[in-house]
This record gives sequence, C-alpha cells and structure tokens, in this order.
Amino acid sequence: MPENRVVQGRMVTPGKLAEMIEGEPVMDTEAIEDADRDCPDCGGDVIAVGYMPSVTEFVTGYKCQECDWKDDDRE
Ligand SMILES: [Zn+2]
Repeated sequence: MPENRVVQGRMVTPGKLAEMIEGEPVMDTEAIEDADRDCPDCGGDVIAVGYMPSVTEFVTGYKCQECDWKDDDRE
C-alpha cells in the first residue's frame, strides 16, 4: 500500500512524485520518506523517494512539498 503525500496541494503517489522529479514516468519506486532538509527556495518541507528511471539506475529524488523545487542525487 503506497503512502501518498500532499505536494503543492495535490495528493501524489510515490510513482507520481518520482515522475514530477524525473520529468517522465519511471519504472519502479520505493515509499516516500521525509528528507532531513528544508527547501533552499522557500524553506518548506522536502520529501524523498527512491526510484528506478531505467533497469540499470537507482536514483533518490527530492521534492519540496510547497513549491517547484526538486533535486536528485545524480552526480
Ligand atoms: Zn520550496
């Protein structure tokens, strides 16, 4: 049972959150977690989700719950 979160006023699933961060649908996702950081743009709460954009890649993505800010752990 995926744990949904509210992002920018919308309830999102882990898959939808990963899609918002990646810009396109991803193959697989883990559960959404609280990231231990604040948004650098607005100071809002940041949430994290691990996902696989392809079979060979695993990425942790970050998204502010209040604004458009997003990031991932790619070098
Ligand atoms: Zn923000």
